[in-house]
Amino acid sequence: MRKEVEKVDFEKVIEEFEMITKDAENVQKETLRKILEENASTEYLQNLGLNGRTDPESFKACVPLVTYKDLEPYIQRMVDGDVSPILTRKPITVVSVSSGTSQGNRKFIPWNDEMFKTTMQIYQTSYAFRNRDFPIQDGKDMNFIYGNNAPPKKGGMTLGSATSNVYGNPGYKKAMQAMKSPSCSPDDVIFSPDFQQSLYCHILCGLVFREEVQSISSTFAHSIIYAFRAFEKDWEELVNDIKKGVLSNKITVPSIRIAMSKLLKPNPELANLIHKKCTGLGNWYGLIPELFPNVKYIQGIMTGAMEPYLKKLRHYAGEVPLLTSEYGSSEGWIGSNVNPKAAPEFATYVVLPQIAYFEFIPLAQLDGNQVELKAIGLTDVKIGEEYEIVFTNPAGLYRYRLGDVVKVMRFHNSTPEIKYMRRSGLLLTITTDKHSETDLQLSVENASKFLAEEEIEVIDYTSYIDLSTEPGHYVIFWEISGETSDQLLAECCNCLDKSFIDPAYMFYRNCKGIGALELRVVGKGTFQKILESQVQRGVPVSQFKTPRCVGPTNITMLQILLENVVNRYVSTAYN
Ligand code: AMP
Repeated sequence: MRKEVEKVDFEKVIEEFEMITKDAENVQKETLRKILEENASTEYLQNLGLNGRTDPESFKACVPLVTYKDLEPYIQRMVDGDVSPILTRKPITVVSVSSGTSQGNRKFIPWNDEMFKTTMQIYQTSYAFRNRDFPIQDGKDMNFIYGNNAPPKKGGMTLGSATSNVYGNPGYKKAMQAMKSPSCSPDDVIFSPDFQQSLYCHILCGLVFREEVQSISSTFAHSIIYAFRAFEKDWEELVNDIKKGVLSNKITVPSIRIAMSKLLKPNPELANLIHKKCTGLGNWYGLIPELFPNVKYIQGIMTGAMEPYLKKLRHYAGEVPLLTSEYGSSEGWIGSNVNPKAAPEFATYVVLPQIAYFEFIPLAQLDGNQVELKAIGLTDVKIGEEYEIVFTNPAGLYRYRLGDVVKVMRFHNSTPEIKYMRRSGLLLTITTDKHSETDLQLSVENASKFLAEEEIEVIDYTSYIDLSTEPGHYVIFWEISGETSDQLLAECCNCLDKSFIDPAYMFYRNCKGIGALELRVVGKGTFQKILESQVQRGVPVSQFKTPRCVGPTNITMLQILLENVVNRYVSTAYN
């Protein structure tokens, strides 16, 4: 007989969370002590002369603030097979290949069992609060996750991804069973060498269990949008599979075919129902509740780089609430959303003081080009101020600058509740003008309002600094959902240019020190090709974020964009 897994007591999880957050300062000291005690003998800490000390003051005095670049040589030695205690006492055998963020540069991030434990802690916390506000009865989760059962290896080192390392951990399934509804999809669909085939079957499994689906989730919301866009394209084929009980022959991975054959039985009634719903929905508004009548919420990371997709997600979701979940990175988790009812645009994350040792660099120091940066402790931050986040984790990152800017909105007991603001680096700069990822996002939002009048949307976008002309200028690439007039797109182009309101930009545009902004419209499916090419490079699908600027090293992406340009507009805003 199958043994029932004992469910997590969520009230207890919340009680513990309240206790820990009330004592954040001590919990932080204890977290640091444990990390430093465990790794006192490492080459890195020994060379810095910490001499076994574990208090925050000695730690800050001896150990410098670092970025990935500083740690890269140490990590590379580990990847190359050096098993001596370099950053951690126990050798690291798995690294997460990070998706890279706005610029799309990959990183190798050390991973170990402690990181898995912190992942489960944060999942439990977010889930406990979610479940309190949106209780789920026995049901299923349509979970768009993608793992790799056989991640590449280099010598003894596994090169996974943070998400794959979590899903592939033997403890994951058990922890999930104890916590939330099981996924609609069998493991063979989650762990597949071909993500398009996984995706198709994730959707098919969801449809088969449509009455039981109570939540729809993914790590980043992009995967959910991507899935329903695929549904728009493939729905007739999916309906056909359900009708006949036979999987489309485009699914060729044998393990997926075997797993799906156990679920799929001829069901013409269901097929007709879905067919009727799809033909009845003009523009796919409210598709999700139509297909899944018992869904309570849609959940995933929905802030930061995911915000541009919220409009489309709401279109599919109709009245179903959108819940943003956690805040973290391949390098480690940071905070949990304990107010799931808040709309993603207003969401904050409570920093969990037991999962890493956190520090914060006041943004004023970064803006002021201060030579020696001084980071302050978790409980010393001020409401309303912005900081770059720094952490020390149990997998060998010490005083690591993550490169994210956050704003402290309030305190939950004695730990801060933060809002993700942006990546700290500049996305676009030609002379002394400065534009962040958010500046670009706002400019795109402004300009896309012209399209909204014609019910056209920007599916995705990115940018490029073109220095091949004199003077250099910015190029914005757009994929849009329909056709419109050149006149309207020329207006969008002017609006993009005018929406960069950095004074230096305006000055240089006026005196022609920066050339006219260009809008290049790319053909339908271009951003899908970009995703596929990134996935081929090893970027995990579950963590995919469209790079918002194509750097000169990202030749493949630039080539895809350039090859797919269908229209080009040059701004006349400063003529
Ligand atoms: P990755 O390295 O692929 O795990 O991506 C991590 C990055 O994704 C973080 O450094 C953030 O920039 C972004 N990110 C993760 N979680 C959130 C969130 N909840 N809100 C906004 N951005 C996030």
